[in-house]
Amino acid sequence: MRRMGSNDRATTDPIPSILPARTPGATRRLACLLGGAIGDALGYRVEFQHWREIERRYGPTGIRLAAARGPLVVSDDTQMTLYTLEGMARAASIESIVDEVRVAYLDWLATQGRSAAARAPVGRLAHHAVMCQPQAPGNTCLSALARGGGGTVEQPINDSKGCGGVMRTAPLGFLPLSVDDATVFRLGAECAALTHGHPDGWLPAAAMALLTREALDAAPWDASISRVLVLLRSWPRSDGTAKAIEAAGKAASGAPSRAKVSALGEGWVGEEALAIGLYAAMAARSYAECVEFAANHDGDSDSTASIAGQLWGARHGLGTLPGDCIERLDVLGPLLEVFEAWEADYRELGRWVESGRGEAEESRDLGTWRRHPRRDPLSRGS
Ligand SMILES: [Mg+2]
Repeated sequence: MRRMGSNDRATTDPIPSILPARTPGATRRLACLLGGAIGDALGYRVEFQHWREIERRYGPTGIRLAAARGPLVVSDDTQMTLYTLEGMARAASIESIVDEVRVAYLDWLATQGRSAAARAPVGRLAHHAVMCQPQAPGNTCLSALARGGGGTVEQPINDSKGCGGVMRTAPLGFLPLSVDDATVFRLGAECAALTHGHPDGWLPAAAMALLTREALDAAPWDASISRVLVLLRSWPRSDGTAKAIEAAGKAASGAPSRAKVSALGEGWVGEEALAIGLYAAMAARSYAECVEFAANHDGDSDSTASIAGQLWGARHGLGTLPGDCIERLDVLGPLLEVFEAWEADYRELGRWVESGRGEAEESRDLGTWRRHPRRDPLSRGS
């Protein structure tokens, strides 16, 4: 598998001074969000175009990040990812994460121009005008949330295996190491199962949560994939997702190519979106190459480039992202605000351990991850 050389990490643009200076762990979590958002915005420009149309419009290299001028407008993928984090930041305990994330998604639904969904938002994200623009929202998310978004792994809300689950669950990988891998995996599955009932709708989301944790830890990709596959295979009906992850891992050895992306599918369904995003993050030699591989194909370019950018950002950090693109993100303000809310909760944990499995021993002192509620219960809106 390809490893980054030191030159690959260089960025031509300074990191914007508006970004909060934090510990290395915090900057990688921020890079995960920003890398996903920039990838989403790039892919969104060609989401519904086949490769032939992209090629006709942008030339033989397809859409390029360096040539993507103007505001970088993100789609529903980034919106919902930020709502996932907002729900997590509000949760008072591990046990309440899934329901707080569900409430956050109902906030999102209320911003999507459906009068039936109108309600006072519980969180702050929905107060930002830029977060209230429908940006090609997925029908499965809209219809499942209109019914309350109460799907579970055991009681599926539908039979959808769309990529609307995996595209939004990376933040579950931000949970402290005191939360074990199996729990992170299960929470990823449950947050996706709120709206997507097929195992290939929620298992890729579970795998994404864990792959994000692994990437934040800078673990070698092959070891990460092995750990994810072990957990994955302990769940029923996991063949589709397991095979897609294996295919991505196999494709990543040797030179990266667009043909390899196409061989992994189009990304409209969960396991294919994860496979393409993972492949691009593993095989690319720079952030721009990563999101360009993940955006230039026949399928769901914004979801695949979002996933690829999240994994890249988590793995390689803020210094590898183009600073000028960060500044042009339309949702930069709300993204930083929800990130800060989450990180403030981290600091409450006191002896929080930032890095690596080597320090996991210390982190166990935290015991069960539990905080005091951060919200007036009367303000709850659903
Ligand atoms: Mg989208």
